[in-house]
Formats: sequence, structure tokens, C-alpha cells
Amino acid sequence: MKELDLLTIGAGGAAYPAAFRLAKAGAQVLMVDPKGVMSGNCLYEGCVPSKAVRETAELAQAQQRFQKLGLSGETRVDYAAVVAHKDAIQARRYAQHAEELAAVANLTLVKGVARLLDPHTVQVEGEQGEERYHCRNIIIASGSDVFVPPLPGAELALTSHDLYKPDPTLKTLPEHLIVVGGGYIGLETASFFAALGSRVTLLQKGDQLLAGMDPEMVALLLPLLSPRISILTGVDVQAIEKSTGNKRSLRYLRDGQEQVLEGDAVLLAVGRRPILPEGAAAIGIAADRHGISVGTSLQTRYPHIYACGDVNGRVPLFHAAVRQSLVAAHNILGGNQACDYADFRNVPTTIFTLPAAAYIGITPALAAKEGRTLVSASYAFAEDSRAQILERMEGEIRLFFEPGSLRLLGAWVVGIDAGNLIGQIGTAIVGGHTAYDLARFADQHPMSAEGIGKAARSLL
Ligand code: ADP
Repeated sequence: MKELDLLTIGAGGAAYPAAFRLAKAGAQVLMVDPKGVMSGNCLYEGCVPSKAVRETAELAQAQQRFQKLGLSGETRVDYAAVVAHKDAIQARRYAQHAEELAAVANLTLVKGVARLLDPHTVQVEGEQGEERYHCRNIIIASGSDVFVPPLPGAELALTSHDLYKPDPTLKTLPEHLIVVGGGYIGLETASFFAALGSRVTLLQKGDQLLAGMDPEMVALLLPLLSPRISILTGVDVQAIEKSTGNKRSLRYLRDGQEQVLEGDAVLLAVGRRPILPEGAAAIGIAADRHGISVGTSLQTRYPHIYACGDVNGRVPLFHAAVRQSLVAAHNILGGNQACDYADFRNVPTTIFTLPAAAYIGITPALAAKEGRTLVSASYAFAEDSRAQILERMEGEIRLFFEPGSLRLLGAWVVGIDAGNLIGQIGTAIVGGHTAYDLARFADQHPMSAEGIGKAARSLL
């Protein structure tokens, strides 16, 4: 049996940062992933390809806004070209990752599926057959997968996988797209397709869209979304059926009434589920619907077995997975005595709708749950020079401080540059900055980040 210092189950964001860190420290490392490439679902069907589509959609939207400059008002884009752009970025990044991997000695990636036989033995079923490894340390980084509900006709619908994987199933722009699910994937996709020229109907089971996020932030965002998106809440989807041509019809109940909606495509976006590798439950590493339970050191019940990324469900975002992977690496280097810890709270999160909303840390809804009071300060993009230049004056930056110390604890941004601004605010939070620190930093004019200092100055 081959000996390894570290085996990672998966080669996504939760796996490879640790794999590189340990290999550079001289460890023998193997990553196992059925895709046979690094980056997991983020590059395959997640963050990167979806944002490749988003940015083209935002350009289409900008073109609409700036017809006064003589640009054509045509909003329907050539979706095949959008897909080609997305595929090219994926191919480029896969090639880049292959080069990064080739540059590191004692680190190998095997195309295959890993199974735990006991707490130190992993069996890998790959193209060359079966191989067993004795592993001093293991990182379970098997990620998550789209949840497809047991709905009659679910196979007639698309998932985010079909939209964003390389050479995707959807290659033409649907005239009418039906989106089932009002989480961030459903809302983002609705937003992209509306900007690209589709009419979109989004159906949500309960009343709250973006459930789990601060309701006040959500209430600021929703009215800013494209009027091409119709949102129906309180919908209980019954079945999806084939309709005339290549269309789909969706049967649903609302207020006790059965209704039928016809569309060119149906997207099911009702959540993701963690993937537990085979054999994990047998050695006592079980997962519930959210994932494998871990604390901030990322260790499971076995100090040498870590569960990082989507598989633990704590913060299922790529950048959170990367940080968790490095925490695991540091703890392995520390002899599996915890010496580094993940911060699950201060992770920037962006809903990449058009416009976007982003948040971090403690916002009022969470503060209320914890019985804390916050001091808030805001800056409206209506006053912002960059927002005015771009004719995108909707939304705001809102900052939340600890009373007394005025230490920055959280924020949201709805509107322009939300995804970038929340990162800048995040570094201030983890740096322990206060309203005084933010107020005395002369940020650039005319950039939207100057709103951060302006919001802080409004308190002083
Ligand atoms: P994360 O961001 O947490 O790394 P991803 O979903 O991006 O999550 O990546 C997880 C990767 O793990 C995926 O590429 C998936 O195919 C892979 N994977 C899932 N189950 C196994 C398994 N049993 N063995 C090896 N790789 C696995």
C-alpha cells in the first residue's frame, strides 16, 4: 500500500490550497477527483462560468441604458456567443491550473473516486483500476451537488449544471424562462436572462426570497430587479410536462388553485446538497442535510481527518472553502493540534443579481437574534459621483458598528460595485477598524468606495 502525508477527497477550492501548501512543505500529497482537473464545481459549473454570463448580461443592460450615445437598443444578444465566451474562460482557467499543478513536485491529481475504508485507508477507483493508500492525513473536500426535488417531470427541467458546465445543454436564449426557486442561484440566473432579453417568471414556494439573508437588505434589492422578471410567491410546483414544440409546461398550486405556466425552459434552483464520500458514515463521519459537522479547526471526530468547503455546509462559497483548506493545512503542519481557525462569520457574500447585493458580518437581523444593538450609517448611491456617471443611482452602502467603540462589525451594499466594496469593507472588519479609521482614510474620488468613508463620517 502506498504511503501519503495527505490525500484530499476532491480537488476543488476546499482541497487544492491545502494540497499545494503541504506539497511545498515537502509532504507527499494526492488529490482525487472524478473530474480529473482542479477547481471543483466553482470552475466547472459555478462561480466562474455564471459570472462570465453575468458580465455579458450587464454589458447588454448598459447598452440599453446608453442608447443616447447612439448604441443600438437591441437587447437580445447572441446567446451562442455568450456561451462561447464562457467556455473559453473555463478552458483557459483549466489550462492555467494544469500548469500550476505541473510546477509542484510531490503533488499528484488522480482522476477517480475516493472511498474511505478506515480512518487511515482510502481506496481510489480511477482509470488505472483500484489503488489503496495509507494516509497520515485526509481532507474530505467532496463539495456539494445540485438538489433535484422528486417532482414528476424534473428530468425535463434544467439545473445550474446544464446552464454553466463546459459545452452546456442550454445554447439558445429562451423567450420565456421559468425559474423554480428564489434562492441566490435562482434570482441571479433570472436576472442574467432578463438582461440578455428573456422574459422570466420566478416561482418561490414560501413567501421569502433569499431566505436566511437579512430581510431589510432583500427588501431593498427586490424592487431594483428587472421588470422583465415576474416573481410569484406561495407557489407549490406539482409537475413539469412537455408542451407544444420544444416548450415545457409547469403545473402549480397557488391559493388552492391549480395553474399552468408555459415556458421555453424551466430551471430548477431549489438548493444544493453536500456529497458525502462512501465509507465516511461507516467510520462515524455522518452528515445531515447541511453537511459534516465541524468546528472552526475543520477537524472531524478524527483529528487527522478534516472536512472543508461545501461538504461541511458552514459557508458554501469558494473563497470560504479556500480559507478553510488553508486552516486545515496549517493544523496538519501543527501535528493536528489546532493552531489555526476559520472565521465563518466574516465571509463576504454577494448575490450577483443585476444590480447585486452583498453582505458580511453582523447585520440587523442577526444582531436582533443575538440580542445586540448596532449603530448604523449609510450612504446612498443617489449621491455618488460614479453611480451618477454610470446612471446606476439605486441602492446604498450600509455599515454596522458596535455601540461605543464604533468598531465595524458588518455591512451590506446594494447597487454598483457591491461585490468589490464588500471585500474592502471585509478587510476593515477583520482588521478591527472603527468608524474613526474609515473616516480618516482618504479613499479615491470618484470611486464608489469613497462612500464607505462618507458613511463613517456621518457618525462623527
Ligand atoms: P468545494 O468548494 O467545497 O471544494 P466543489 O464542489 O467545488 O466543493 O468541489 C468538490 C469536488 O469533489 C468536485 O469536483 C466533486 O466531483 C469531487 N468529489 C465528490 N465526491 C468525491 C469522491 N468520493 N472522491 C473524489 N472526489 C469527489
